[in-house]
Amino acid sequence: MVSDLARAESLIGSIPDYPEPGVIFRDITPLLADAAALRTSIDALIAPFAGGFDVVAGIEARGFLLAGAAAIAAGAGLVPIRKAGKLPRPAASVAYALEYGTAEIEMHDDIAPATRVLLMDDVLATGGTIAAARELVAGLGGTVVGTAVLLEIDALRGRDALGDAPLHAVFHI
Ligand code: AMP
Repeated sequence: MVSDLARAESLIGSIPDYPEPGVIFRDITPLLADAAALRTSIDALIAPFAGGFDVVAGIEARGFLLAGAAAIAAGAGLVPIRKAGKLPRPAASVAYALEYGTAEIEMHDDIAPATRVLLMDDVLATGGTIAAARELVAGLGGTVVGTAVLLEIDALRGRDALGDAPLHAVFHI
């Protein structure tokens, strides 16, 4: 019998040449649409950090989908980390390099000091997004207790760029 987690993993799609030629896009939407797979995946995302965080910070956009569910499941709060220019109140920002060009993420600047933050996103690729998110939270006085992603693309070695801080991936490819 296939385990619940293996079944959930089988629901992640691979879309060749999206959003541009040469990229294989990992599509978590079939997993999200399946009630049992969603529950199992959310439980697996938060399990290593149980009881150790106050808020889940989800990274726009697919990180929001996971972080909202994870926060409810864990009895924690939810904080959005958004692309630049979307937040209504004063925010801190961090710019980082992409393969082509740069990106910038922002977070409201009123996080309570020493808040324990669990970062969450769908996919870990090069690690640039998570590195920037860590810098953002730390710069505002929060404590990043860990990072949880649904899928780590091992060949891109993002983990190597992120040092020793706790990093949990439910699935690897
Ligand atoms: P990186 O900063 O290179 O680790 O890229 C991670 C961010 O880009 C995450 O927010 C992902 O949603 C997105 N991403 C990168 N590569 C992929 C991929 N192959 N499939 C789906 N999302 C991806």
